[in-house]
Amino acid sequence: MNSADTITDVLGHFIGGSEVPCSGRSCDIFDPATGKVTKQVALADVDVMEQAIFAAQTAFPAWRHTPPQKRAKILFRFKQLLEEHADEICQLITSEHGKVLDDARGELGRGIEVAEYACGISELLKGEHSKNAGPDIDSWSEFQALGIVAGITPFNFPAMVPMWMFPLAIACGNTFILKPSERDPSASLLMARLFSEAGLPDGVFNVVNGDRTTVELILNDERVEAVSFVGSTPIAESIYRQATATGKRVQALGGAKNHAVVMPDADIENAVNALMGAAYGSCGERCMAISVAVCVGEETAEHVVTRLKNRVEGLKIGPGSDTSNDMGPLITAEALARIHSYIEQGLEQGAELAVDGRNLVVEGHEDGFFIGACLFDEVNESMSVYTDEIFGPVLCVVRVKDLDEAMLLINDHQYGNGTCIFTRDGETARYFSDNVKVGMVGVNVALPVPIASQSFGGWKRSLFGDLYVYGPDAVRFYTRRKTMTQRWPATDKTERARYSFPSS
Ligand code: NAD
Repeated sequence: MNSADTITDVLGHFIGGSEVPCSGRSCDIFDPATGKVTKQVALADVDVMEQAIFAAQTAFPAWRHTPPQKRAKILFRFKQLLEEHADEICQLITSEHGKVLDDARGELGRGIEVAEYACGISELLKGEHSKNAGPDIDSWSEFQALGIVAGITPFNFPAMVPMWMFPLAIACGNTFILKPSERDPSASLLMARLFSEAGLPDGVFNVVNGDRTTVELILNDERVEAVSFVGSTPIAESIYRQATATGKRVQALGGAKNHAVVMPDADIENAVNALMGAAYGSCGERCMAISVAVCVGEETAEHVVTRLKNRVEGLKIGPGSDTSNDMGPLITAEALARIHSYIEQGLEQGAELAVDGRNLVVEGHEDGFFIGACLFDEVNESMSVYTDEIFGPVLCVVRVKDLDEAMLLINDHQYGNGTCIFTRDGETARYFSDNVKVGMVGVNVALPVPIASQSFGGWKRSLFGDLYVYGPDAVRFYTRRKTMTQRWPATDKTERARYSFPSS
């Protein structure tokens, strides 16, 4: 289909409090459930980016001096508007991403929790005070906004991941330019309109749509002080290198391969239920998805694989708009082809395909980007289905003899985003949590995504940078510490010159 001939709906940008129409390049947006192009989105060029930078730069001085309580009031109204428009936002997510509506509600809810946390900005921005740092001297640190901050986000959480970034960055007094994924940008555009309706001054939050060319413009612009990125590891690493080289503060979150360890003493029924949701929810397109189940002992493996097989074969797969479905389609035809290729590699390399979802047909949706859930057994650490992030509904079972062997696998893996262990033994759980080289750890919790008042991030090649997203780390990431030292002598007295280094 030549979409340019038939599609009239071209999404533009949101800059300086107004919609800015597409003026140049654009690309297609698909409904993954039908495989059809439904709209297009603009890909910003240098002129559009200049407009966004100008808007953000102009808005910054007044916004940074706006009292935090006043910023919080706007955020609170924004949160309320998000709740009022939740159905509309979730329908947009499902129509462009494909995930089941309930799953879209879940991600929006987690995003709203970050906006709620940002409403406490007056408390979060309180400085640190040291009275009598020296004779008649007081010292304090305060946390000042950076200026223009940019966020570049992936397709898989079109509402939640942008909200990991912009509510707190803006609450801290920065102005923000968001470059959402070109696959599903509508939720971001709607959120920008709602934030403006909540009373946010023009230019504080801007959405610039685009692709890698747009990202390059952000990275090369000296007026952008910091970049938050979430996406795949090769891009995260390259963005981290490029942006830090131009002096920007950067946090770049990348891909994952999350292992769940099932111990012989685990409640197997609960573990399998948790694994099903964590592996196949959102069609496996989550950075915290469990993609490897490490079963300790042959008996454990037999119990887990037998139960998983039944459950995987029984999954209900279809369009995300039908809430009775457990799993929707993948995001694109390319993603579908990539996952088929991984399954073939797994078979060639000797893994056992216990459930083969490749022949799934969803009636009435034959051109949608659907694949059935797949389960590989007898996977080992040399296979590409184990080493690589597949980002689809493929769970790999690895059989090991003991906990140490399980932890060696996890600790040696290139990624370190999330992991979990299923056990009834406190000592095992504590040993695992303490020694596993991963950023977010669950004990009998398959998706240990930190709540809004904690911070989210992985280790190793899952995060480039020092500070995690949202929570307390984000307040530090989006502000710069300034430390004042002031002397107010109690009485008029003339100080003599001192040549030794000042001490208290
Ligand atoms: P992606 O890396 O393809 O794209 C992410 C963003 O980068 C998009 O906005 C895209 O337009 C832009 N981009 C793409 N190619 C680029 C290039 N060459 N140069 C500069 N920018 C470029 O990722 P995706 O496919 O949208 O999302 C899936 C990936 O994101 C998975 O690897 C997943 O694990 C990861 N992810 C990680 C986390 C986390 O918290 N660690 C969370 C969500 C998603």
